[in-house]
Amino acid sequence: MADELLERIDRLIQQKPMYQEALLVYRELLGFLAEMQPVITYEAGDASVHEIKAREGFPLFSRGDLPIDHEGAVLLFQRLLEHLSSTKRKDRASLEQALKRVQAEPAWVRDVIWAFLSGDEGRIITMSQEVTLSPVVVKFLAHMSLQPSMRSLRELTTEGIRGYTWNYGYCPLCGSPPNMAYLSDEGKRFLHCGLCGYEWHYARLKCPFCSEERAKELGYFTSEEDEGYRVDFCKKCRRYIKTLDMRLIGFPAPLELENLITLHLDVLAQKQGLKASGD
Ligand SMILES: [Zn+2]
Ligand SMILES: [Zn+2]
Repeated sequence: MADELLERIDRLIQQKPMYQEALLVYRELLGFLAEMQPVITYEAGDASVHEIKAREGFPLFSRGDLPIDHEGAVLLFQRLLEHLSSTKRKDRASLEQALKRVQAEPAWVRDVIWAFLSGDEGRIITMSQEVTLSPVVVKFLAHMSLQPSMRSLRELTTEGIRGYTWNYGYCPLCGSPPNMAYLSDEGKRFLHCGLCGYEWHYARLKCPFCSEERAKELGYFTSEEDEGYRVDFCKKCRRYIKTLDMRLIGFPAPLELENLITLHLDVLAQKQGLKASGD
């Protein structure tokens, strides 16, 4: 694991005390993720076929057919549960209950991961209730368990995807909506996939969710305490995306982490009746 990232997290813990608990959990879990060596089967195939499909808006994979390491993800989910249920967290009794369920019935995790990938929110809620865990925690664990596979998949496919133009508001690798965006040093906008973490260039004045381009329908607000952070929103579809302006932020953390430590911006957006990408 990159020591640089750990140091970055330690600095954030000092700078953002309200996120101390979330950051500590993330820091601990990174160690488990780094130990995984996912087995991914992927062959690049014909570049011209990909290009034609991409022109028509088809991502390389749909969420349901991503070539992930299912066994590795199940194992990691279980390890994360073992670890978290041994800490002093308030929900440790529920975590223990989930762990017992997984030990008795390994297919349960497979179903949770499948429900997460297929975006079956109802199923996630039911399965979370079965073990008295919050659906937010269950989704977080499923997402973390998939990260090693996603990292490998990004490494295997990025070069191919960069070979063609992609002008859509969803991820060229897995088809998921973005959960964060950033403006580069040159002022170009990039979107960050909420599932696989792939980042792609996207028009600056265009809603990623409904493709609205009229300037009067697009807006943003900033938060006074966080220079360089803003929330872009669309008046037509009422969706928003948190955006980091790299010209103002010296050393951003990886966007998965930035997403975790900007939940107060989600609260502000949702108070205004705006919806997050996945809702
Ligand atoms: Zn993706
Ligand atoms: Zn929109």
